[in-house]
Amino acid sequence: MSKYWSELVRGLEPYVPGEQPKDRKYIKLNTNENPYPPSPAVLEVIHKHTGNDLRLYPDPDGDILKTAIANYFQVKKKNVFVGNGSDEVLAFAFMTFFKQKKQILYPDITYSFYPVYSRIFEIEAATIPLTGDFRISLADYPIDNGGIIFPNPNAPTGRLLTLEQIESLLKRNTESVVIVDEAYVDFGGNSCIPLINNYPNLLVIQTLSKSRSLAGIRVGFAVGASELIDGLERAKNCFNSYTLDRLALVAATAAINDRIYFETKCQAIIATREWVKNELEKLGFEVIPSAANFVLIQHQNRKAGELFSALRQRGVLVRYFKLPRIDNHLRVTIGTDGEMQEFIKQLQAILSGGRPAT
Ligand SMILES: *Cc1c(COP(=O)(O)O)cnc(C)c1O
Repeated sequence: MSKYWSELVRGLEPYVPGEQPKDRKYIKLNTNENPYPPSPAVLEVIHKHTGNDLRLYPDPDGDILKTAIANYFQVKKKNVFVGNGSDEVLAFAFMTFFKQKKQILYPDITYSFYPVYSRIFEIEAATIPLTGDFRISLADYPIDNGGIIFPNPNAPTGRLLTLEQIESLLKRNTESVVIVDEAYVDFGGNSCIPLINNYPNLLVIQTLSKSRSLAGIRVGFAVGASELIDGLERAKNCFNSYTLDRLALVAATAAINDRIYFETKCQAIIATREWVKNELEKLGFEVIPSAANFVLIQHQNRKAGELFSALRQRGVLVRYFKLPRIDNHLRVTIGTDGEMQEFIKQLQAILSGGRPAT
């Protein structure tokens, strides 16, 4: 703390990202990165555009990328907003839509950036508890609100809502913006982007970090009615004209356009996830059904904190959240088959080590 900091900044509690260790090589199953490299087409355009043009500012509108996204989802370019990672898109969305007199709503167990953004933008928020089996129950969301946000599938549970469930919320909740954060939707869900034509208050946010293997490039986007997109552009243009650099724009465009590569890698991760789920159940874990590239698990009689440390010592990093209701769970990202076999092998060794639970 410093006396030079504003009262606002003194009161913040920043988001804590998963560890990016530098001390040794780990099997990294802690931050939901994709274990496969980006499409070869991405590397090609990065090489091609790494040259003299880097002295020039990028296109402030990100036109090539918006066009690729609009074609992919069969929407218009005016329905697309692009940003520096979906975290940035979320920040602009909180600023643009959620700074209201009424409280915004999100689940009690969800992406931990939502409370952080609420705090920095001084937005009042209320949490709605997940059900006992960790489902989002949209029927529990009162319509008297300043906005609603949830991921689908939810993080860190991996549980999926159907489009019918989301649509029935949209039918009742027409006076505030509903944001569906689809960071993981490509691993087993259906996007609600087709619903934007019928619901002018629906904003769908996606990222290229997970299903398109581009966490290191930082690109996310939002799709919604042009009225909502114009609001986001307004906020962005008061903050930074060039949120996406030249290399990010061409790389993301190439990734969106390589549909076959993307679909193949998503299928591979889904197949590995189902294999891992089965193996974990054999080892005495409860595995919440996941439509994401991670699983949230709990062992019958071993403490999550202990398993986390034992795995870490053995070179496997997973995520352990010391948060209410999930402080005995671990979130495990789905890696390659080889990485997951090694993860299961290390778990078997730990569990057969015979050290009793305390
Ligand atoms: C990873 C994640 C994001 C952010 O992704 P970016 O890398 O900033 O694009 C947003 N929402 C959820 C739920 C996530 O898990």
